[in-house]
Amino acid sequence: MPSIQGSDHYPPPLAVHHPDHQSLLEQVHRLTNEVQRLIKVESKLYYVQQRVDQQVRHYHAMNEVGRQLSTSLDLQSVLNVIVEFILYKANLERCLILVADSENQYFHVKALDGYYEPAVYQKVAGLKIKTSQLDLAELNREISYDLCSALASTGPLVQLRPTWLMHEYVVFHLGENQDYAQCLLVAGNSQKMMPYQTRIEMESDLILCLTSLATHASTAIKKAIFYDTLQSQKQDLERALMTLNRKNLHLEQALKALDEAHTKAIQDSLTGLFNRAYFDERFQQEFAQAQLNHEAIAITLLDLDFFKSINDSHGHLVGDLMLQQFGKLLQAQAPIGSIPCRYGGEEFAIILPNATPVRTYTQMDEIRRCFQQQVLAIGQQHIGTTLSGGIAFSGSTVKTSTELLNQADQALYTAKTQGRNRIISYIQPT
Ligand code: GH3
Ligand code: MG
Ligand code: MG
Repeated sequence: MPSIQGSDHYPPPLAVHHPDHQSLLEQVHRLTNEVQRLIKVESKLYYVQQRVDQQVRHYHAMNEVGRQLSTSLDLQSVLNVIVEFILYKANLERCLILVADSENQYFHVKALDGYYEPAVYQKVAGLKIKTSQLDLAELNREISYDLCSALASTGPLVQLRPTWLMHEYVVFHLGENQDYAQCLLVAGNSQKMMPYQTRIEMESDLILCLTSLATHASTAIKKAIFYDTLQSQKQDLERALMTLNRKNLHLEQALKALDEAHTKAIQDSLTGLFNRAYFDERFQQEFAQAQLNHEAIAITLLDLDFFKSINDSHGHLVGDLMLQQFGKLLQAQAPIGSIPCRYGGEEFAIILPNATPVRTYTQMDEIRRCFQQQVLAIGQQHIGTTLSGGIAFSGSTVKTSTELLNQADQALYTAKTQGRNRIISYIQPT
């Protein structure tokens, strides 16, 4: 820049008496003023150019940050992006981000940079601010810095004034609205290096830039916290589901045990047929049901012939095997819908709902015939016996299940006395 101040020899001195002397002097004076004005304008332009460059850089950086923030769902990555911007794009010295806990009781430090002294770092990192102690409305009212008052009333900027963290700092609250801050962003420089006017203008740009960042960051943090909440809710749900599954498993095991206990309670362990206790209960039920529906019901008692002599000749275990074998035969041959039970010892009972005399007799006689043909191979021996059976059908005269059972017993007795290996139906008196 040419120096106008060094004008001792320029313009060259002119004779005072020259007619144009006065006008020339005025011209030179005007020109000198003009040049000085131009120098000022140029320097202003240069400075404006710098500001514009800075703003463009901020704009590009902001664009990039906006892109990064919009694609990140992880809270820590979002905070890191913000910190990097503050330190390396906005060129501030320090940055601190506090995030409210899920109960919204305390702000905890979640990200920080620029605190290089170990003691300071430790103090700042462990910072915990009670949310109730942070009166944002009060802070807004107290804003004393002229530059920010307009921004503070509308934007996310809360305060810009000297306080305990730095000599000079900015605080943004990030969140839904100013009454409910989810996050505090503290950033700033510790010293005022530049001349007042420059600083004012630079800070004004910076504040605009940071305000814009705060808006982007608010959305990103809100999104990340929401995502975090969703994730932890998902984890809670998964845990609850696991507990539920475990409970379900226990329940299934308990049900299985109950089922097994129930089966044990109603099953005869030797033959696998229903036991006597079950028979007593079920026969009463079926009889009552048949009476209610005016349907026929029959009961058959089957007794193995000369079973005692099998025990006596071949041993109790062989007797057991024969009982088991007969149990299988009954399970296979008992009519569909009938209920075969072990009545006791070598006696068996079959409850036959909806029975008809002829069909029932045929079915029982078929069982007798099959058993007669069945032999138990023990070593070289083939052991077998026969059975006798008595059937009783409920008619209009039979009033109770016990009465019907007695009639079947009488028919069985008849079968025994008539020579065994036969089925006898009880004839109701007319
Ligand atoms: P009947 O033709 O008159 O019925 O003669 P029976 O020998 O079959 O009848 P009895 O009532 O005299 O004998 C029945 C035998 O059945 C006596 C008993 O020892 C035997 N018994 C009862 N329960 C069992 C059992 O669970 N296992 C074995 N092996 N024998 C049994
Ligand atoms: Mg008997
Ligand atoms: Mg017998």
